[in-house]
Amino acid sequence: MGSPSVRPRIQRGFRIGFLLGIDIGGSKVALALCDAEGRLRARLRRATEPSGDAQADLARIAADARRLLVEAGVGGSDLAAVGVSAPGPIDAARGEIVHPPNLPGWGRVPIRAVLHDALGAPVCDENDANAAALAEWRYGAGRGFEDLVYLTMSTGVGGGLVLGGRLHAGLRGNAGEIGHLPVEWDGEPCACGLRGCLEAYVGGAAWSRRLRRIAPDPGRVAELAGGRERVTPRELVAAAREGDGFALAEMARWNEYLARGIVALVFVLAPQAVILGTIASAAGEALCLGPLRERVAARVWPLLGRGLAILPSGLGESLPDHAGIAVALHSRARD
Ligand SMILES: [Zn+2]
Repeated sequence: MGSPSVRPRIQRGFRIGFLLGIDIGGSKVALALCDAEGRLRARLRRATEPSGDAQADLARIAADARRLLVEAGVGGSDLAAVGVSAPGPIDAARGEIVHPPNLPGWGRVPIRAVLHDALGAPVCDENDANAAALAEWRYGAGRGFEDLVYLTMSTGVGGGLVLGGRLHAGLRGNAGEIGHLPVEWDGEPCACGLRGCLEAYVGGAAWSRRLRRIAPDPGRVAELAGGRERVTPRELVAAAREGDGFALAEMARWNEYLARGIVALVFVLAPQAVILGTIASAAGEALCLGPLRERVAARVWPLLGRGLAILPSGLGESLPDHAGIAVALHSRARD
C-alpha cells in the first residue's frame, strides 16, 4: 500500500512553522514532525508500554517529542502546533482523555494542558477515529471529497465524520459513534452495555470471540491459527482467500452486517465516500469491498448509491504518521 507524501493544505492565516503529530495507540506510540512545506522531517515509533501512571506516560511521550525536535534541528519556538490522536472517549471542551479502555491506569487525563506545558506550543486533540478520518481526508483515500465517513474496523468500530470539509463533532464531541448503531434489535451484547450494535457483529474483538466458539475444529481457520482458541479475523480472511466454505460464509455474514450500518449512514448523511480501515482493507476487493458495494447498492436509492465510493484506507500502516499532523492542521485551519 503506497504512502502519499505529507502535504498539508496550507490555509489562509496559518502560521508558518513545524507541526508535531502524536498518535497514542493501545500498543504503539507514533510521533511525526512535519515542516512548513508539509514534508515529513522525522518520525519515531515505539511500543506504548503504559506504566499505569498517565503523568509518567505523558512525560515519556514529551521527552520523545523533544528528542525528535533536537534530532531534526528544530527549536521549540519553531513549533507551530501539536496535534494528538488519542484513544477515546475525549472531553473535547476540557481537552481531557476520559478513562480510555486501552490505556490501563489512565483516568481523567488533561492531555492538552500537560503537553502544552511540556512542549510550549498549542495542542489540539481528537479521538483516534476522528483523527484517522481527518488523515484519510487530507492524505489518503478521502482526498478530493468534502463529505466522508471513516470507519476504523479494528478491535472495535470507531467512526469519524468529515462533512462539508470539516470534522463534525456533535454534542460534546461524540458524533460518529457508528459502531453502536443497532443492526439487530435485541441482538448480540456489546461491550458498551447495549445489544445488537454494529460493533458486536463486525468489531474484531467480537468477531474473534464468535469464531473461537463456532469455527470447525478440525478446520482450515483453526489450523491457520494454531488452534480454535487462537482464531482472529486474520486467519478467517486468509482461509476465505483459499476458498474455505466456513470462512466464506462468515465473511458474507460480516459484509451483510457492515452493509446494514453503511445503509443507515447513507440515508442520514448522503456521503460521497465511506472509507474502511483495518479488517476491510486487509480482506480487500474480492472478499469484502466488492460484495459490500453490491449489498449497499441494493438497499439504498440509486440517487444516493450512484455517487457513493466505498473504499479501503489509503494510508494503511502509515496512518499513525499522519493522524496527529492532520489534527494539528485541522485545528489551525479552524482557528
Ligand atoms: Zn455498543
